[in-house]
Amino acid sequence: MTSIKSAPDTAPTSDTFDSLDPATGEVVGTHPVNDAAHVQAAVATARKEAERWRALGFAGRKKELDAWRRLIAGRMEELARVMSAETGKPHGDALMEIALAVDHLAWAAGHAEKVLKRRSVNPGLLMVNQAASVEYRPLGVVGVIGPWNYPAFTPMGSIAYALAAGNTVVFKPSEHTPGVGVWLAETFAEAVGRPVFQVVTGFGETGAALTSAGVDKVAFTGSTATGKRVMAACAETLTPVVIEAGGKDALLVDADADVAEAADAALWGACSNAGQTCAGVERVYVHEQVYDAFLAELVASAEKLKAEPGGQVGPITMPSQVDIIRRHIDDALARGGRALVGGPVPEGARFVQPTVLVDVPEDSAAVQEETFGPTVTVAKVRSMDEAIERANGTRFALGSTVYSKARGMEIAEQLRAGMTAINGVISFAGVPTLPFGGVGDSGFGRIHGPDGLREFTYPHAIARQRFKPPIALTTFRRSTKEEQTLLKVVKGLYGRGK
Ligand code: NAD
Repeated sequence: MTSIKSAPDTAPTSDTFDSLDPATGEVVGTHPVNDAAHVQAAVATARKEAERWRALGFAGRKKELDAWRRLIAGRMEELARVMSAETGKPHGDALMEIALAVDHLAWAAGHAEKVLKRRSVNPGLLMVNQAASVEYRPLGVVGVIGPWNYPAFTPMGSIAYALAAGNTVVFKPSEHTPGVGVWLAETFAEAVGRPVFQVVTGFGETGAALTSAGVDKVAFTGSTATGKRVMAACAETLTPVVIEAGGKDALLVDADADVAEAADAALWGACSNAGQTCAGVERVYVHEQVYDAFLAELVASAEKLKAEPGGQVGPITMPSQVDIIRRHIDDALARGGRALVGGPVPEGARFVQPTVLVDVPEDSAAVQEETFGPTVTVAKVRSMDEAIERANGTRFALGSTVYSKARGMEIAEQLRAGMTAINGVISFAGVPTLPFGGVGDSGFGRIHGPDGLREFTYPHAIARQRFKPPIALTTFRRSTKEEQTLLKVVKGLYGRGK
């Protein structure tokens, strides 16, 4: 795997780091550790490109982004190989991730004009003489900082939407998946031929350099702890941020749910991508009437699922994450929990076996903190009200899932979460028109959909006078008679009725 020079007018830094295959520890790529000077040069290049990219307009940008989209779609097996090598993700899962990323790229390019172009708005009765309109303008240069767990899909939620909205982008991929970031930038360069989208590689310091390099917005996806550091750095220059952070998503199973479907969704939601999914299922609350049936289904299928080389569940990408998963399981077991499938994680393990935990106290780490492994806690509840209360009981609030035949919407509407899937799992992430993001410790701001496009813009409002106002208010020539008329109008309009 080769690395590319990120900014055309800067010398590459001499320090490098290796990207490793998490299953074997083998080196799969070597990339530069870009320092602050390099990052600043990339941002300067992006700044130079920003005016040309903005001036291309929606149609011009769509043409360029469509060319990139075709290139990615045509070579997605190649990208999937890079992704699997760096994350350990099974090839099929990598392909699915890329398919979703491509779909979002197509949607953002195809809908930016409709969502962002100038449109008329009602001026209201008091300002009836004005023609009011608003458009959403690009901010300039957007810095995107990405995680490793979905190294194409997750940053694409910012990259595609920021580019389609007319910004140029500098992307700092995770140090665990630099090859995916470089691949995306290389294919963009091939399709578009200009440094509208560049990559800088390195560790946290490179990301920190991007937050203070004078970008107009930072789109951060990663852990809550790093999100706080990014926000603090951005506060220095009043640079706005989107924070897409961690989750502790719950799946709720109602008494009338299709239990087999719910168990299948719980297992996939908990264990796909080896559980390293921000909106993955980490907790399940099941109505007492179907608890035993649900658990029997879940245990039977979880027992058949194995984390192994070439299997459906890959390795844990970051070795340090194995320690967190081990701590959560050990703590749950020490506090009276039972592992019906899986159990304590052996020292030195790179693969964590699917683990189903029951009888785990609600205030334990396995229920309250992000585990980010193929584990799930299952708890019995007397009613869906109790399930909702417990689901809403962590600092995180990203996604959520409800299995219910009759009351799916009713339950979903009471969940504190940015997104809810009903009788499906994580389905919201693949719907390009739906906003994606969280509240609380899961962050703020939105990627995807019209909200995701507007996130990378600022609104420009225009009020154009069409004719002289019936009551002239904004002048020192305003008379007492006009003030009296205003008084009458406002009392007539707003002082009556219910
Ligand atoms: P992380 O916070 O360790 O790193 C994220 C990125 O931030 C990396 O590129 C890293 O190099 C960079 N970084 C580190 N320190 C920095 C600093 N001081 N300034 C700027 N950048 C810095 O997260 P991770 O382990 O790569 O990703 C996993 C986390 O991401 C999980 O918590 C997961 O839930 C979350 N996540 C959230 C979403 C979402 O959309 N909400 C999506 C995917 C992952």
